[in-house]
Amino acid sequence: MARILIVEDEDRIVSFLAKGLEANGHTTMAVGDGITAAAVARDTDFDLMILDLGLPGQDGFAVLAEIRRRRERLPVIVLTARDQTADTVAGFDAGADDYVTKPFRFEELLARVRARLRDQGSTETTLLEAGRWVLDLRRRTATVDDRTVELSAREFALAEVLFRQPGHVLSREQLLSMVWGYDFEPGSNIVEVYVGYLRKKLGPELIETVRGMGYRLSP
Ligand code: CA
Repeated sequence: MARILIVEDEDRIVSFLAKGLEANGHTTMAVGDGITAAAVARDTDFDLMILDLGLPGQDGFAVLAEIRRRRERLPVIVLTARDQTADTVAGFDAGADDYVTKPFRFEELLARVRARLRDQGSTETTLLEAGRWVLDLRRRTATVDDRTVELSAREFALAEVLFRQPGHVLSREQLLSMVWGYDFEPGSNIVEVYVGYLRKKLGPELIETVRGMGYRLSP
C-alpha cells in the first residue's frame, strides 16, 4: 500500500484516479493547483505523485522543478494530453519518472504506478490468493491448483480488481471505470464478456454473479 498524491484540476479525473487507486489498496490525497501541490509534497510524506501538467497557479513543470530542487526522491508520473509530445520530453528533462498520455486506461496507469513503487523497493504484495486461485502481480499470470493460466492484459486487470476486494460486490459500473477507464460506453456489456472469459480460463465458480448488483470473488 502506498500514499499517493494526485495533482489534477479536473474533478472527473481526480475521482476516477482516487477510486481506482484506493480499490487497489493505496491511500490518496488530491490537490487541484500547482502551488498547493508543491507545498503539500514538501510537508507530507508520499510514496508517489501523479502530476497533471496543465494546472492553475503554476503548471506541472514548475511543481516538478521545485520538488527536484529540494532533491526529494519522490517518484513522479506525469499526465499529459496526446498533443503534447514535446511537453512529455520536457517532463523527463525536468525530472519526471514516467508519463501517461490522456485519455488513459486505469490499467495502464496502475501498471506504471506499480513499476515506480517497485523501483522504490516498496514492500508491495505481489501474490493475491483466494482459495485455489493465486494471482501473480509480477508475472501477470494466474494459477489454479498450481496450474498456470495466461491472461490477457484486460482479463488480468479485471481479475486483479476482484482479487483485491474478495467477497465485496462490485457493480458493473465500478468494474467498467476501474478496468476500462473513464471513456467507456456506459451501456456496454464488456464486463459480462470478460467475466465470461475469466470463468472459462479459471473455472466457473471463481466469480459469482450477484443478481442486480454486480460481481464478486467467491467467498
Ligand atoms: Ca489540467
